Amino acid sequence: SARTPYIGRFAPSPTGLLHMGSLMAAVASYLEAKRNAGVWLLRVEDLDPPREFPGATQSFLDTLERFGFCWDGPVVYQSQRHERYLEILQTLQEAGWVYPCSCTRKTLREDGLVGVDGLRYGGRCRGAGHVDGTGLAQRVKVPDQLYAFVDQVQGRQQQNLAAMVGDFVLRRADLLWAYQLAVVVDDADCGVTHIVRGADLLDSTPRQLFLQEILGFSHPQYLHIPVITNLQGEKLSKQTMAPALQSGVEAEQLWQALSLLWQSPPPRLRFVALADVWEWAYQHWDPARIPQKRSVAVTFDDDFE
Ligand code: GLU
Repeated sequence: SARTPYIGRFAPSPTGLLHMGSLMAAVASYLEAKRNAGVWLLRVEDLDPPREFPGATQSFLDTLERFGFCWDGPVVYQSQRHERYLEILQTLQEAGWVYPCSCTRKTLREDGLVGVDGLRYGGRCRGAGHVDGTGLAQRVKVPDQLYAFVDQVQGRQQQNLAAMVGDFVLRRADLLWAYQLAVVVDDADCGVTHIVRGADLLDSTPRQLFLQEILGFSHPQYLHIPVITNLQGEKLSKQTMAPALQSGVEAEQLWQALSLLWQSPPPRLRFVALADVWEWAYQHWDPARIPQKRSVAVTFDDDFE
């Protein structure tokens, strides 16, 4: 039977080294691409040089290679896509979707509006008529409208952008590009059809659906895997000192990632060769086993050392 084309991707940010949570996102996106006879792209989301961890990008490539991942085509670097983001911003400006904003964190605190990411912007500068220029953030006007989608794991999701997010930043006052803009443009330009990533980005998806809509891009399918947290409920991340993936124990860490993705790899597979774990994974990967949860708590010491 004819297959629908499948283009997936993995898109780590070089703010730290890859850890077990990153490996889970890489494994899930990779195995979904393989299961669908699709392609798997690699994109380095190096949008924020000040927050970059030295050597992280090279370490991503080395680590992914060591684990046996094969990406299709050249690696895309967001740091090289400035001209394209600028062109998109100008398109949105010309269409009246964007306005410059001089508000600071202090203004947001004074307004005290709450949204999905903490403080939500209430739109003070929407009608302010600031003259375009450097030094001001560029915000997109969101509609008072529900954005809904069905996530392959998390089920139906919906969010009213005005009520829960507010007009959000596409380009910061310091001229850095916002993740929301870059991710939408890059996925569309690469023809990505399926996005598999951590559920910490579930609340960003409606913003991305909205940008896709106003830019005339098609909507990809989404699958958000639970993020792992410690027993205090803190996301395993570079910020919570998640241990970096170790060299020399790839097979066991792949086994752990599969286990944390609820694939139930047999215990005997825990200490076999890497290729054998992959072989098992190709044959048994089933996204229907992933629990419909935003996060799963684990004990770091037992599982990650
Ligand atoms: N760069 C993002 C991260 O590392 C992922 C972006 C995405 O998958 O959409 O959390």
